Amino acid sequence: MDEPVTQGNEGREAAVASLADRLPTPLRPLARIAYNYRWSWLPGGHDLFARLDVDRWRRVDRNPVRALIEATPAALAEAAADTAYVAEVDRIAAALAADLARAPAEVDGVGPSAPIAYVCAEFGIHPSLPIYSGGLGVLAGDICKEASDLALPFVGVGLFYRRGYFHQRVNLAGWQQEYWTEVDPDLLPAAPVLADDGSPLEIHVPLWDRQVTVRAWRVDVGRVPLFLLDSDVAGNDPADRWITARLYDANRDVRLAQYTVLGLGSVRILRAMGIEPGLVHLNEGHGALSVLELATDGTDGADAAGLDLDAAVAASRDRVVFTTHTPVAAGNETYEPWRIVTVLEQLPGRFGSDPRALLSLGRVDPEEHESEAGMTPLALRAARHVNAVSRRHGEVARGMWAPLFGTDAADTPIGHVTNGVHLPTWMAPSIRALLDRHLGEDWTRRADDRATWEPVLDIPDAELWEARRAARHRLIDYVKDRIATDRLARGEDIAYAQRAVRALDPDALTLGFARRVASYKRLYLLRHDVERALKLLDGPSPAQLLFAGKAHPADDGAKGILKSMFDLRGASHVADRIVFLEDYGMTSGSMLTGGCDVWLNVPRPPLEASGTSGMKSALSGGLNLSVADGWWDEAYDGTNGWTISGAEDPDHATQDQRHANELYELLERQVVPLWAKRDADGVPVGWCRMVKASLVTVGPRFSATRMMRDYVETVYRS
Ligand SMILES: *Cc1c(COP(=O)(O)O)cnc(C)c1O
Repeated sequence: MDEPVTQGNEGREAAVASLADRLPTPLRPLARIAYNYRWSWLPGGHDLFARLDVDRWRRVDRNPVRALIEATPAALAEAAADTAYVAEVDRIAAALAADLARAPAEVDGVGPSAPIAYVCAEFGIHPSLPIYSGGLGVLAGDICKEASDLALPFVGVGLFYRRGYFHQRVNLAGWQQEYWTEVDPDLLPAAPVLADDGSPLEIHVPLWDRQVTVRAWRVDVGRVPLFLLDSDVAGNDPADRWITARLYDANRDVRLAQYTVLGLGSVRILRAMGIEPGLVHLNEGHGALSVLELATDGTDGADAAGLDLDAAVAASRDRVVFTTHTPVAAGNETYEPWRIVTVLEQLPGRFGSDPRALLSLGRVDPEEHESEAGMTPLALRAARHVNAVSRRHGEVARGMWAPLFGTDAADTPIGHVTNGVHLPTWMAPSIRALLDRHLGEDWTRRADDRATWEPVLDIPDAELWEARRAARHRLIDYVKDRIATDRLARGEDIAYAQRAVRALDPDALTLGFARRVASYKRLYLLRHDVERALKLLDGPSPAQLLFAGKAHPADDGAKGILKSMFDLRGASHVADRIVFLEDYGMTSGSMLTGGCDVWLNVPRPPLEASGTSGMKSALSGGLNLSVADGWWDEAYDGTNGWTISGAEDPDHATQDQRHANELYELLERQVVPLWAKRDADGVPVGWCRMVKASLVTVGPRFSATRMMRDYVETVYRS
């Protein structure tokens, strides 16, 4: 079969063959479909697996390999006898093959043999591959999918966290607790990368005083292979096997070791497979050490082609671009000098440099010898092009990093490519079907063209409203399915567990808020004035609020905010219409953004670099009510949603007060009345007009299609 990057695919071919052997002959093509996440954004792909056994499909987190391995013989036999189903299997198998066989797009300096290597600490490809925590990872996943759709020569490199990111449970007191589960790689659509002799390909990464052995897994995301590095290898020191266990491990040494594996290991594993990256795209700074490896000739020897560290950075510059994602300190972590010198003990010597030279590369001011160092300054120094992720974030990042470049903020060489979201992944099915009917064939390929979206304005309101209704019903069904179990597992009483199921109304105005519970996202503004909030939900046209989000395990402040929301339980009967969904992730995220009518976002400006959940909501016909920060600062035009002032204010208490008031006022005076105003058929005509304005303005500008074209034109082309 034709595929753009064939390196490292022997393991997958063996896995596909072995899975196919377990299936009745007519169903064998399912094995190849299961080993490429392309099914997840092919029309009909999801139903193909769900149809076998819908309960099991949900239970295995929609993991197709596991669903096939664990399917009962009866279910397989029944499906194999269904000619319509078998025809659908063949149709999707053919669509996958056709997609892989397309000719690659041409981009200067890169090609299938010298692809863009996209290096990131997390990837949110699909709920069944739990190696992401939030926005950064989901964006990386969307980028891989869009790169595949655009046929770019592109490979992803990340880490294979067998225990992934934490799961969230909230106890009876409203306090978040974390737990981790371990995946079995043999049950995932991942296959080991093999050496010529058929054994797992191994590379070594110098950490502390030793060489840590690292292997890789290949995960196929359409045309884009994602190579995931794994230190859980027999023969490694048991502590070294833990390095890639958990995403953003709490231990700082482990995190530094992870980023070393990602940085040095990414280039080494690609070279070991015979891939020389044409360009390294650092998505956030975690993998920045790759620039040093890139400058070497790829051998493990002590000598690095005679380059010292500064020369190595300079030599790689032409082949490195960097995207910075956050102005918040936790996203730009720094480490104590002694820690870096210990973990990276062997690195400076390889370049004939001393540890001070290495530390200097990771500091804003290289001469400040006492201060901590991190990956972001190294990435900023090493990249020939740096971008932020929204227009406003560009301004913030230029101000933030001007000292490193020794420039005025205005002249700091940081541009921006505003984030976008992968349409086929994130649109609610009913809205996708609606737009498929109205926007013409293959419209998602033309999603960055304003003209593509114009026909939205002519969609009959009743038809649009029906699609929105279907999206909301799907969400409320999902929530009702989960809510009683969530509550009973927490130890709540049965009556309380059942109350939300009864209280939720699939035709009521549904407000949503779901994102990390970081302090700057200000979830607490929603309950700033409890009386007023409850009254709002209890007006003549009742509303309901669904919210979700994980607090960082070490952030007790954020956990306190979450707890304060739980303290509303029993505040009045209206509180039954405030529902928290545990363990926010891609599944609940896509349900919420797909079904909510209003998507709330109240970050403290200017700390929201972009935000993408609001784009997902808009593209499913939801309306944004947001502080004018991140992407919304450039999206809001007065007709397509509601906005709260994005001005900065050093007096946080006053700003909170003012923003909470603006939020309530908008909801009371604009959102609820617009929702309530119906025509004779019960259709809210003004609301539909705003939904159309939102689709037409957000659609062309905040899709991943537009984002990737920007990357190609302004960042990748040298
Ligand atoms: C889209 C998404 C995010 C990012 O949303 P923000 O608006 O940036 O907070 C985070 N987590 C999940 C699971 C998502 O799907």
